[in-house]
Amino acid sequence: MSAAGSFVAGLRSVWEQGASDAGRDRRRETILANQLGLFGAATTALYEIFYVVYDFGLLWPVFLANLVFIGVYLAIPLINRAGHRLLASHVGFLNVLVQLFVVTYFLSTGAGVQLFYFTLAGLLALMYSRIRFPATLAMALVAAGLYGFCHFRFTPDRAVLPLPGTVLDLLYAGSILGAVLLGAIFSFLFRQEISRAEADLERTNETLEALSERDALTGLANRRRLDSFLYSECQRAAREHRPLSLLMVDVDHFKRFNDVHGHQAGDACLRQVANLVGAAARRPADLPARYGGEEFVLVLPETPLSGAVKQAEDLRKAVAAAAIGPQTPQGREEVTVSIGVATADRADAYQPEALLRVADKGLYVAKRSGRNRSAVADENAALEGGARVFGG
Ligand code: GH3
Ligand code: MG
Ligand code: MG
Repeated sequence: MSAAGSFVAGLRSVWEQGASDAGRDRRRETILANQLGLFGAATTALYEIFYVVYDFGLLWPVFLANLVFIGVYLAIPLINRAGHRLLASHVGFLNVLVQLFVVTYFLSTGAGVQLFYFTLAGLLALMYSRIRFPATLAMALVAAGLYGFCHFRFTPDRAVLPLPGTVLDLLYAGSILGAVLLGAIFSFLFRQEISRAEADLERTNETLEALSERDALTGLANRRRLDSFLYSECQRAAREHRPLSLLMVDVDHFKRFNDVHGHQAGDACLRQVANLVGAAARRPADLPARYGGEEFVLVLPETPLSGAVKQAEDLRKAVAAAAIGPQTPQGREEVTVSIGVATADRADAYQPEALLRVADKGLYVAKRSGRNRSAVADENAALEGGARVFGG
């Protein structure tokens, strides 16, 4: 890391004191108070150097007073770390109010230190996460009142520690620069915090969106995702006159499996079948989904009937060969599936309901033919002649 990089990282570690456990809405308030402490101390230190170098014999009272203010600024991250977030913001606000007043009292408005009241008022609403408008207004009015008081009472001719006009002009220029730059820096850092919060939110949204389309038990797409996917695939296939196939997979005698082995084993069985359905989705465009209960659907875009039947048979055999189900004294329970196949390749067949209905009919045929079969019902658009059964 470069020197500047580690310097910023060091600063960050100070102003994040107490921020990690602050909760989303109070995090920015905590960081801002810490930043106020750091920048307040740093800015004051620059003035301190000037007081010492220029004429310590004259300026020591304002130097000493500023040492106290620097101490309070540096205490702010500690107060935040101790979890007193509101107190930390109050301490920061009051320290600035009093410091500007005291320094202006000593040096007069000629030094321009009172300009920082503007910076402070601009930060108010950001310093307190739960501040209401009347409170913001009241605090801003206090800052305005003190600015006005300084302006009319601490005129250069009444300075407690008188400095020559040219020196005052120099200080005034420095104060202008400081007040404007600090305002810009604070709002930039705050902007960064907001961007970060927005990115967090975006990520959370994406996660929630992904979760809302996934079946919790099997991790496959859920019914909601299947519905929207099937709808858009039907539209696309119809538009481009491309075949679209769908397999409807149902576990055989699953009620009995549950009764014999219990619901937990039933769930484990469903997960294993789901894995095989997922593995059968070989192309990126294929969508494996849990249709409901112990039924799964595999959508196969760009797949004609012959290909879909092949896919169905491969899947059916894979399930039978996987020897799913617990070992019992009578031997291993054979878990098998029956599969209904449907393909759309004619204009009137490109409808989600039609595909699902025809696949369901095929499934019924497969069950009636003895289970552990794949079947295409005779009303399938791509099929000539009667129903066809595969396997067994
Ligand atoms: P068939 O061969 O005709 O399909 O017989 P089947 O017993 O599988 O038929 P049916 O559809 O009547 O029974 C499905 C059973 O699946 C009923 C229900 O108890 C069980 N089931 C549905 N969802 C779940 C689930 O999430 N977990 C478990 N363990 N069982 C489920
Ligand atoms: Mg069923
Ligand atoms: Mg079943």
